[in-house]
Amino acid sequence: MTILDGKRIAADIRRELKEQISRRRASAGDKQTIGNRCPKLGIVIVGHNPASETYVTNKMKACAEVGIEAERIAFEDTITQEQLLAEVQRLNNDPSFDGFIVQLPLPAHISEQTITAAIDYRKDVDGLTPENVGRAAKGLPCIISATPRGIRELLSRYHISTDGKHVVVVGRSNIVGKPMASLLMQKHETGNATVTLCHSHTTNLKQVCLTADILIVAVGHPGLITADMVAEGATVIDVGITRIEDPNSPKGYRLAGDVDFDNVAPKCAYITPVPGGVGPMTIVSLLQNTLQAYGHTL
Ligand code: NAD
Repeated sequence: MTILDGKRIAADIRRELKEQISRRRASAGDKQTIGNRCPKLGIVIVGHNPASETYVTNKMKACAEVGIEAERIAFEDTITQEQLLAEVQRLNNDPSFDGFIVQLPLPAHISEQTITAAIDYRKDVDGLTPENVGRAAKGLPCIISATPRGIRELLSRYHISTDGKHVVVVGRSNIVGKPMASLLMQKHETGNATVTLCHSHTTNLKQVCLTADILIVAVGHPGLITADMVAEGATVIDVGITRIEDPNSPKGYRLAGDVDFDNVAPKCAYITPVPGGVGPMTIVSLLQNTLQAYGHTL
């Protein structure tokens, strides 16, 4: 059994990105080209959700490490949907931002779908706009949603092929499950999988999971996937991150995935840990997407 070390791979990629950015800037010299300035990412955060604050801090740190300028744009949760839409328009129109994200979740009075749909898809470095999702589904050039991109990269860096494999994705969210399934079914060397998508209304989850060569779980229920649901030799990717109160931890909580790691791991060929698996890959994908937007490839 091999543990898929997302933390190490993400650090490798950050080093590669740092070199790429500094090479690009060095070659730009004094010319009026895009490389004349750092790539710049805007991170919009609304309210004070502790998990969101942590994610934003980690994203800012990762940007600084590779040479991407990141600006945190914070609003109180009293902001109206109209005011937030106006901010999205401002960022769409400001050429100094190559890309921006609106950290989710948003307060209940703001529609995430409406806000996401207002982002210019060329600046949508979370890959969540209808344009990017549609383009990804059609196999057109696009910005791919960060977590699926990170999982694809992790599999590819460990030379785990999805070609002809049965991949079972559990969870149908717009940010992980659906785009992951869409990506893996593409006619492409990093796709070509037979994909089954399971969700809360799936009646025979255990039987379906047992047929998976690669099992990707994004639900948010710690311990949902038990050893009797996983075939010998399968690859298991655990996307779930749930905070569990833990008075013995210095932070007062620990992070749990969706997979019963201790009992499932011995059956697997490969498995991701939580934390240190998919999480760091998601952040590094945001950096890659920002660089893609900086390069104006769309
Ligand atoms: P979500 O919270 O929006 O939805 C959960 C999904 O799980 C739904 O599609 C639902 O149909 C499905 N589901 C619920 N109960 C189920 C059951 N018993 N059997 C099968 N399916 C069931 O999903 P999300 O936003 O993708 O988040 C899922 C988890 O992934 C959360 O723990 C979240 O924190 C985590 N997450 C991690 C990363 C990362 O970078 N590691 C990124 C995004 C989300």
